[in-house]
Order: sequence, then structure tokens, then C-alpha cells
Amino acid sequence: MLKTVETMSNLGAIDAAHHLHPFSDMKKLNAAGTRIIQRAEGVHVFDSNGKKYLDAFAGLWCVNVGYGRREIADAVFNQINELPYYNTFFGTTTPPTTLLAQKITEHAGPKMNHVFFTNSGSEASDTWFRIARVYWKALGKPTKTKIIARKNGYHGSTVAGASLGGMKWMHEQGNLPIDGIVHINQPYWYVEGGDLSPAEFGLKVARELEEKIDELGADNVAAFVAEPIQGAGGVIVPPETYWPEISRICKEKDILLVSDEVICGFGRLGSWFGYQHFGVEPDLAPVAKGLSSGYLPIGGVLVSDRVAEVMVNQIGDFAHGYTYSGHPVCAAAALENIRIIEEEGLVERVRDDIGPYFAEAWKSLSDHEIVGEAVSVGLMAGLQLTIDKATRRRFAKPDDVGTLVRNHCVENGLIMRATGDRMLASPPLVISRGEVNEMIATLRKGLDHLRDTVK
Ligand code: PLP
Repeated sequence: MLKTVETMSNLGAIDAAHHLHPFSDMKKLNAAGTRIIQRAEGVHVFDSNGKKYLDAFAGLWCVNVGYGRREIADAVFNQINELPYYNTFFGTTTPPTTLLAQKITEHAGPKMNHVFFTNSGSEASDTWFRIARVYWKALGKPTKTKIIARKNGYHGSTVAGASLGGMKWMHEQGNLPIDGIVHINQPYWYVEGGDLSPAEFGLKVARELEEKIDELGADNVAAFVAEPIQGAGGVIVPPETYWPEISRICKEKDILLVSDEVICGFGRLGSWFGYQHFGVEPDLAPVAKGLSSGYLPIGGVLVSDRVAEVMVNQIGDFAHGYTYSGHPVCAAAALENIRIIEEEGLVERVRDDIGPYFAEAWKSLSDHEIVGEAVSVGLMAGLQLTIDKATRRRFAKPDDVGTLVRNHCVENGLIMRATGDRMLASPPLVISRGEVNEMIATLRKGLDHLRDTVK
């Protein structure tokens, strides 16, 4: 821990001199100065000046059980004392690793009974990408290698993760996507739906998957990947026609369905996993974030019986893994995190209590003159900013308006995120009704600020 007052007061300068931040324009950041988050409790974080913020973004969509859980700290401390590290490569495992695999699968549905561990969501993307290809190869279909993903999707920032994601500005850095990955449109009705109803549009974009498979030839396609609700892309909640149609197409064309659960998993939508909310059965499901509520880095891929059977009986040695796959200390943290989610009934709380309360409060913002739509599922929410509600017209500089609202919120003690002209929220699952009210009131002031600035 950093102790001296002198070091603390210099931290900003030290950071500017030595620390390259992810997804940050370093010149601008160094000029503005970085915000130093020093401690946290419940749904609040405190910066080095002692300023308190309501963290309506749960860190980075991950602190599902909230901050300051002593039980997780104790589980980590005890595990470090007993066994700080051992690998899972050479015919070995550790107790928390194995128990965690069992615990996750208890909640994942009857056909999802195996887990391959990683350290992050990005590594989980790389992992399922390889599993999908070796799966088809083992079945004597080595040409089934292509992966279909979606524009504006996010699956991490490793080479495979960033390639699977559909963010153009990421592709531009590093000549991505890599070969064999193609993108179809996203179900973003508000901006791309035109005159179609949401239901019609949902079917239309889902059927782009069928068209793409036919164009490439089903014999060349390994899998389709999507987030149940697109997160970083703007909390794009798909029309209700979307997922059933996607599921039908994957089954009929015999390609693997991959549900990226890195955000939606572990209670965020009021279900253990996002695929359960939408009633679909994926073949593979990457997870991370809420698995440990971010207390320690851990991720994994849930592997369905269909795929696991081939991995176990036909593939033989799957030449893939990480030094820290199933790290015992991270697994102990995750086990304790899941115990808390179970004991406090947090999934049910989101589904039946705070989720519906939040939904109503969030929806109430749609009366604001610059709000086009306010959508949420469980505790994952998106708010579209618009210059004209009737025509769904966007602001001239969509990228700037969200930032303006977000900065106003932060100045007023509320941490939210903006993706272009959409405001995103994803608070810890333990947020209280009073804290929801506070959050909505501060956000409303941020919206007023944007209206008064641009009109
Ligand atoms: N998949 C999704 C849906 C995500 O939102 C993220 C991160 O935000 C990732 C994958 C990558 O996870 P990580 O940042 O842990 O590598």
C-alpha cells in the first residue's frame, strides 16, 4: 500500500510519467490529470481527495456484489496461506479450482457441465475461438473455421478478441480483423431500424446471419458469437424477435452458438446467465467480470455437453492454456463471490425487486426532451440521446454529447459511462432503492445540462 503523504500527492505526476492507460488518449489524460480512486465501500468509490462517487458502472460492469466484502478478502487470505499457486496443466488441479467449475455449472443449465478457465474475458474469447475450430476438425469437418460476429460488438482486446469485436476504430490499430472473421449488422433498432417496427427489424438483422452463412457456405462456418445484450457497444437490447431467430438459424445450419456472457453473466440481467434470460442454449459461453465481481482476475469458457464430449473423447490434447488457468486464489475469490450471490439471493433480487424498481426509474427519464429511448434489463441500462424524439434524429456530433453528460455526472458524484450518444449504466446488484433514486436525479441534471448547452 502507498503510505507517504508525499508519494500520494505526487501520484498524478508519477502516473503521467510512467503509466500507459488502456483505451486512453494519453496526451489528453496527462493534461487533464488522472483521477485516483483510493478506496470503496458498497456502491461507492472515493478518490484521493476524499470525494465520494456513486459507482453506477460497478467498476467496469463487474463489481456485482459491491465493494468492501470482507468475506472475499478472508477467502483470498486463507487461500494464499494454504496454497498461493499451483497449475492445472500436468494432471493436477487445486480444490478451489475444481469446486468452482462445479459451482458455475450448477447454475448454467442442464446441458452446460464443463468450464475451461482463463484470466479474463479477452482470453476467454481466444479460448472459445480455438475450441470451436478444433471441435469441427475433430468431427472431420476441417473447413468449418469461419466465425461470424457483429458490428459494434465487443469481445476483448487480444488479437482474437478485438477481431471478433466489431469496433472499426479498434480494427484500424493492428490490421484487424484476422482472417476468417466476418461481421454482420447489430440489432440496433433506434438508429438502424428505419421504418421497420422493432419486431420486424429484429427478424431482419437475425436473418442476415442466415444470409451470411449461405454466402460463405455452412461447411465453412464454425460459429456465431454475440453478447445477449451488446454492452460496450451501447447496451443495445435486441428486439424480442431476435434471439429465437438466431437460435433457429444456428441449429438449422449446424453452427455453434457462442453467447458472450462476460457482462451478462452472474446476475446482471436477473438470471444467472444472459442466455437464460433470452431462452437460448448456446454451445459455448465465455465468462469473466461478475464471476469474481472483479476482486481478482478470472474468466473462463462454459462448454456444453455437445462440445465437451468431443473435447474429452476425440480431440485428445487441446494445446491451449494459461499459467494462471484456474488460479487457486482467484478461484477461491470467485467461489466466495458466488456464495454471496446465492446467499443474498442477488439474482432473484435483480429479477423481482431492484430490477423492476430500477426499470421504472430509468424509464421515467424518457420524458426528458433529449432522451430517445431508455431501456434496461435487470441492472443493465442504455439511454439514447436524441435531438428530435419524433424522427429519432441524432446530435450532429454524437460522440461529444455522451461525454458531456458523463462528465457532468462525474462532477456531481455519479460514475456512468457514455458510448457515443448513449448513456450506459450497470450498477452493483446490491444498489438500494434510495441509491437508484439518487442516480436517476443526478443523471437527469446531466441531461438538463446537455439540453441547456446545445439548444
Ligand atoms: N466480452 C465482453 C462482452 C466484454 O464486455 C468484455 C470486456 O468488457 C470482454 C469480453 C473482455 O473482457 P476482459 O476485459 O476481461 O478481457
